[in-house]
Amino acid sequence: MDVIVAGDRTELVKAKDTLGGGRIALVPTMGALHEGHRSLIRLARELADHVVVSVFVNPLQFGPNEDFSRYPRTFDADLAACAEEGVRVVFAPSAEDMYLPDRQVQVSAGRMGAIVEGAFRPGHFDGVLTVVLKLFNLVQPDVAVFGQKDAQQLALIRRMVADLNVPVEIAGGPTVREPDGLALSSRNRYLSPADRVTALALSRALRAGSGRTVPSEILRAAAAVLDEAARLDPPLLLDYVALVDPATFTPVEDGFRGEAVLAVAAKVGTTRLIDNLVVAVS
Ligand code: AMP
Repeated sequence: MDVIVAGDRTELVKAKDTLGGGRIALVPTMGALHEGHRSLIRLARELADHVVVSVFVNPLQFGPNEDFSRYPRTFDADLAACAEEGVRVVFAPSAEDMYLPDRQVQVSAGRMGAIVEGAFRPGHFDGVLTVVLKLFNLVQPDVAVFGQKDAQQLALIRRMVADLNVPVEIAGGPTVREPDGLALSSRNRYLSPADRVTALALSRALRAGSGRTVPSEILRAAAAVLDEAARLDPPLLLDYVALVDPATFTPVEDGFRGEAVLAVAAKVGTTRLIDNLVVAVS
């Protein structure tokens, strides 16, 4: 069946009417789709009768010095990928359609939005949660699928759904990686060959950390790899490496037992990358 492209809210309502009932899964994206997005679409297909993919580069979640204007936009290829994966509706609104010029109200990610990744991107998670809640209200999915790649985002969406009683199930999909370990990201296309070699240190650091079980040792092992990468050309410029509780993103310390998220963010050249791995702490 053909993909229906809905370019605004009115077209979305019409497109949804053609589906004729059944469970709807939403996969929110900013486009520039890669195998990571496609794996989420495949998971969404298992969880529902119809899949809606949103493609929207959300201006609200980019800081003034971030890459909103140069974020990759590859709509034709995205549409082809969605068709191949059996997506029924692609919702691709304009910023004008999504945001009223006199808008006032938005979602606050609270304290959890201001730590770890949020400490480096003020307002980012408020922008993410606002657009995600709007997409939930517009599409009204039964289930929405997000990647573990953005672990703090996933945790905050679960928090928002619990705190605001949003009637949607949330499902998380595992991070898809290149064979050499680099997590797929729409931003990887910015990496030069030399950048890419340095960028491999992120996933290498996570793997080094996951070979340990005590928090201080996990962090030390990861930091050793990242320190070494800071001496490469181009250097890895670390924003943070943190071992946190998967639900709250507060730091995990020695004595903690259970699963924790080892998260890392760094700049390589002009590209900022994030990655994480769930590690067993004992
Ligand atoms: P984005 O287009 O970057 O906003 O991402 C859209 C969704 O795809 C988010 O839920 C991301 O967590 C997810 N995603 C991004 N990269 C990957 C990846 N390598 N593997 C799995 N999911 C991913």
